[in-house]
Amino acid sequence: MQAPENFIFRFEKARKNQAIMMREIYGALSMHKSIFINAPTGIGKTDAAISSCLSYALEHGLSILFLTPKNSQHKIAVEVLSGLRKKFNLDFRYVDIVGKRNMCVNPDVNLMEGEAFYKTCEHKMKNRGCQFYERSKDVETADQSLAESGMQGHNALFRESFERGYCAYEISAKIARDAKFIIADYAHMLNPSVMKAFMRKIGHALRDSIVIWDEAHNITSIASSYLSMSLTTSTIKRASAELTAIGSGIDLGYLEYMLNSMADSKIKKKGIGEAFVGHGDIPETIKAGKEEICGQLENAAMQYINNAQARRSSLMHVSRFIRLLSSYGDSDAVIISRYGKGVKLSVSCLYPSEAIAPMKEAYANVFMSGTLLPIGMHKEMLGFPDAITATYPAPFPKENRICLLDKDVSTKYSQRTLDHYKLIAQRISAVRNSVRGNVAVFFPGFEVMNAVRRYLKNPVRFVQRVEMRSYQVEQMISEFKGGEDNLLFAVMGGSLSEGIDYANNVIKGIIIVGIPLEHPNLELRARIEYLNKKFGMKGNEYAYLIPGVVKAAQAAGRAIRSEKDRAFILFMDRRYSWSIYKSIISDFMQIEEGDDYLPRIVRFMDDSAILHAGEAGTRKESA
Ligand code: SF4
Repeated sequence: MQAPENFIFRFEKARKNQAIMMREIYGALSMHKSIFINAPTGIGKTDAAISSCLSYALEHGLSILFLTPKNSQHKIAVEVLSGLRKKFNLDFRYVDIVGKRNMCVNPDVNLMEGEAFYKTCEHKMKNRGCQFYERSKDVETADQSLAESGMQGHNALFRESFERGYCAYEISAKIARDAKFIIADYAHMLNPSVMKAFMRKIGHALRDSIVIWDEAHNITSIASSYLSMSLTTSTIKRASAELTAIGSGIDLGYLEYMLNSMADSKIKKKGIGEAFVGHGDIPETIKAGKEEICGQLENAAMQYINNAQARRSSLMHVSRFIRLLSSYGDSDAVIISRYGKGVKLSVSCLYPSEAIAPMKEAYANVFMSGTLLPIGMHKEMLGFPDAITATYPAPFPKENRICLLDKDVSTKYSQRTLDHYKLIAQRISAVRNSVRGNVAVFFPGFEVMNAVRRYLKNPVRFVQRVEMRSYQVEQMISEFKGGEDNLLFAVMGGSLSEGIDYANNVIKGIIIVGIPLEHPNLELRARIEYLNKKFGMKGNEYAYLIPGVVKAAQAAGRAIRSEKDRAFILFMDRRYSWSIYKSIISDFMQIEEGDDYLPRIVRFMDDSAILHAGEAGTRKESA
């Protein structure tokens, strides 16, 4: 095995656990094995993973795919690779690829949404209808100026391609053919309908690739979401209106009838309710005629998009849903439910075996996350019983953080009353009014967040909304960071609580309200039952308890991002003291129980202020 000093590494010296991590990854690769790594913030895991994998790949003629759930996480990989290239004067290529929609330079297409975008792009490519694509065909993979842009990140490549009249996605795929290292999204590999085409396009084979999965604790839930979909009676109505707009003779009345009659026969209670749907409940005409039906709907959708200059089409959605409904299997649950005056039919993937299976073809996988615990669960869920595992302690001083508990409140479903929301709001106010500095409050969902906010006397300028684009999130965070005593309200498991770096101790305190457990509905019940069968009665832990508590741990970890950061974390839910939840959260942090948390927070913050003043004084003297 290589000594760490022989690895290509962009800094002078590796931190202690970073060096161990590099050695362990290199060792796993030498044995042709995958590795699961739990590495808390501060270890420097991105540098460690890239350096060790690249050292191995360069020696053994392999390529690397670095995958992240969010585009914003590509930047750090680009920085590491750029640093390595410069420091060692290496001439390997790398490229940063994001989803096609984000790289489309065609103004007639790039504002379209979802399936409408992909079908329109596909149609234009087939019919020589996209000038950017046509021009890109003759671009040489060796074009150095484009490759240089690709190595500065996807935004630079987008700009360069746009200026030269090329499709940025096509160009990034061309650069990837000669690249040693490809930064891409989970969607490129976990979406079975995309994966094969993507690998073909970039000209790499999985068996010759090391795949690094960043934030790997999310893999199964993200993969399941790619294989799940719903259809509502409202969407069918919108699709019917699109058909009327183009004067089509297609009638979708039978679909609406199917949903309504399923609801009438299966949901006994009037109003809200849900029920499972079996294979026998799906009409044979839909299953047998799927290709013809979907073909007609897609043609009609294209006609509607062209005629109305529309950005989206419900007909496309209906077509995709019919394909999914006609081919669902044992690892899916089909559920009919009522919402308001409408009916919804959902196909929910309970376990994404189709998306996970191709991972085994890779030379090796490096699964890493700051919250990949319990590591045995992830190994089992992803089907790598022989993989190597490694876990490292948090590198920051323990005294820089206090984790306390408010046992008087809970967001357990049976306790979600207005009085309780009022009490939670009062407790948040009390903390906010007692300390200086930015405080972030994370909730189990939008419903609880909005309910508590109604009773809060303090102004909350920064509030997460249900649908926020990444640039809106970035803008909000940059304004939040700019202030001194701001209050941020966001939900756990969202873009403000995971995969986002609040650097420079910008958050002085975090309040975790409740446990973000999944809503106990039929889908969850089916998933628990499925995982019980597959993994020997561990469904409740794997599908319900652990994912919920890990989301809370992710959110709680936002405040401390370096060894100098100090912050308090207050858990507002008595269930964190129950042994079942305590045993999971204690993998990540020790919560102190006691009735006097507010004075303790105030004392801790006063000490922090003294420490900061001391540091500022020391800095002044040395200056
Ligand atoms: S080929 Fe490229 S530029 Fe043209 S529509 Fe598709 S993604 Fe956009």
